[in-house]
Amino acid sequence: SAMRDTRTKKTKTVCTFCGVGCSFEIWTKDREILKIQPVSDAPVNAISTCVKGKFGWDFVNSEERITTPLIRKGDSFVEATWQEALDFVASRLGAIKKEYGKDGVGIISSSKITNEENYVIQKLARQVFETNNVDNCSRYCQSPATDGLFRTVGMGGDAGTIKDIAEAGLVIIVGANPAEGHPVLATRVKRAHKLHGQKLIVADLRKHEMAERSDIFISPKQGTDQVWLMAVTKYLVDQGWHDETFINENVNYFKDFTAVLEKYTLDYAEKETGVSKDMLIRTAEMIRDADGTCILWGMGVTQNTGGSDTSAAISNLLLATGNYRRPGAGAYPLRGHNNVQGACDMGTLPGWLPGYQHVTDDVARQKFEKAYGVTIDDKPGLDNIQMLHAVDDGSMKAMYIIGEDMALVDSNANYVHDVLSKLDFLVVQDIFFSRTAHYADVILPAVPSLEKDGTFTNTERRVQRLYQALPEMGQSKADWWIVQEVANRLGANWNYSHPSEIFAEMASLSPLFGQADYSVMEDWGSFLWGSFDGASTPLLYVDGFNFPDKKARFALSDWVEPVKFPEEYDLHINNGRLLEHFHEGNLTNKSEGIQEKVPGIFVEVSPELAKERGVVSGSIVRLISPYGALKLPALVTDRVKNNELFLPMNSVDKESAINFLTGPAVDQRTNTPAFKQTMVRMELLRKD
Ligand code: SF4
Repeated sequence: SAMRDTRTKKTKTVCTFCGVGCSFEIWTKDREILKIQPVSDAPVNAISTCVKGKFGWDFVNSEERITTPLIRKGDSFVEATWQEALDFVASRLGAIKKEYGKDGVGIISSSKITNEENYVIQKLARQVFETNNVDNCSRYCQSPATDGLFRTVGMGGDAGTIKDIAEAGLVIIVGANPAEGHPVLATRVKRAHKLHGQKLIVADLRKHEMAERSDIFISPKQGTDQVWLMAVTKYLVDQGWHDETFINENVNYFKDFTAVLEKYTLDYAEKETGVSKDMLIRTAEMIRDADGTCILWGMGVTQNTGGSDTSAAISNLLLATGNYRRPGAGAYPLRGHNNVQGACDMGTLPGWLPGYQHVTDDVARQKFEKAYGVTIDDKPGLDNIQMLHAVDDGSMKAMYIIGEDMALVDSNANYVHDVLSKLDFLVVQDIFFSRTAHYADVILPAVPSLEKDGTFTNTERRVQRLYQALPEMGQSKADWWIVQEVANRLGANWNYSHPSEIFAEMASLSPLFGQADYSVMEDWGSFLWGSFDGASTPLLYVDGFNFPDKKARFALSDWVEPVKFPEEYDLHINNGRLLEHFHEGNLTNKSEGIQEKVPGIFVEVSPELAKERGVVSGSIVRLISPYGALKLPALVTDRVKNNELFLPMNSVDKESAINFLTGPAVDQRTNTPAFKQTMVRMELLRKD
């Protein structure tokens, strides 16, 4: 504009690139980002940041931002005013609800947008569409961890703070790569390990940086983590190294649990997992000797058919050894996206109202019914995967997808594309023209975190305030504003003028947030949810576990074996993050500073396999699964071994995006895709 602001503006913000939740000042001049300034008051990271938080922000000024509402005309999109676009969205969604009923519409929310936005999105679903068909991308990642924790300890969050991890005598990391996925958290573990004698055990398919640093590295066959966890637990109990006093006072079903453990002998575990008995015994001894054990886990555990039961097995091990209710102990599922915790907390889940009040809980549901003036279904709605099936079978006609690139991040992408093309009406609300947007009827331009106010909640349950640093680009608008406009056109009467009002409404309906409000979170302040009296609670379960008798429960589940593939698919393909990139790459691929560092995409091939197949670094290979095929260069590296392949997940290209290989298998209890259980065969197309 003609009135450019020439002064430097300093704004506190919360990083949008991972669940660690670092905060810092961002210095800007008009739309220009001058620098990221760490501040010692930042509760999670103080003066630390990683490469993404420090250099990853160019995307906000990308020319590829969508800056005006778009409406489909034939095969292309034409620009529209907000009035036109919103009227059109409301009339089409309203008509579909009228014709096909409340289950005709499904809503997907985002774990990258704020808590307040997630709250109004679940309210849009429940009040305006009268459906529980609302979900978020935790369905792709952390739902199994939440499930395993709810069953055992009664709450789905990290047991303590990130700082508390440093106090553990032993940290066990299962199926996660925090050095790349959660860098600042990993730094704390590295420091405690190096300087304070903390022990480190890593269980992973890949010998990543944390594995290199570990005291014990075990590499179980894919899909077998539950077996070694149960075998180690059984061995601890058999040796009398469990914490009997803790169990007697705090945990139910120990006897039934030992019966379930019966089969998980060291011999059985060695056979199924490939981990030697000696390694399992050393692992058990290290747990015995540690003053406090924390277990951290990620997608390597959750994205399996037994993801929930493996998460429960982790919690069982901690319960059996008395590793809860004190700093430096407990379960730490590592949340991926910056606000995946908050999205779940705010109730963009088919079974949960805000603040973990279940839709089947009559008292809680009636409270929301009264506040919203509608009847809320007492059954959970459809999750992401079930929504896709409902579209496929014709019972769901419209979807409203906010900040989620389902066409790329969901498994079995060829199927997802097919389903999206069947929708009668699709609204996509995003900051970029995602793959999913190709199927949209209307695209509504949203803004990134730097262009709005609100709060994010990190992996340790810490709610932090972010302040608007930049003006909205073009005509784009904050998601909460857009959702309110849609809701009001469909008969609601919302009058939110600032996210603080939304937060206050949420807190008034959610005992977990009873004592939280914006005044607590001003500047560098924060609030950690964790007890139903509503107080800030850094350490969970101090007053007992979240069950009526205050006792935790051993989960009684057997190992869920991984999916079997026909023999010709002889290579297992794993996928994960690179330090420099954010998830599927939609944001960081647009940040020049990062593109220079990691230009291409490649599949990692072990030296053994490379030799056997005549592959060298730079060879072009074709990977074929029962669900699709990719063509891409190979990188020979000893980070993977034998028949393991590894593919970073930051590609947006049909030739190299992992989900054109992944299939329909899901975690038994939560429908989270079993991304990690993918087998392929490999053809050499060009040697170099
Ligand atoms: Fe951002 Fe995570 Fe890096 Fe912290 S560790 S700066 S939250 S990406």
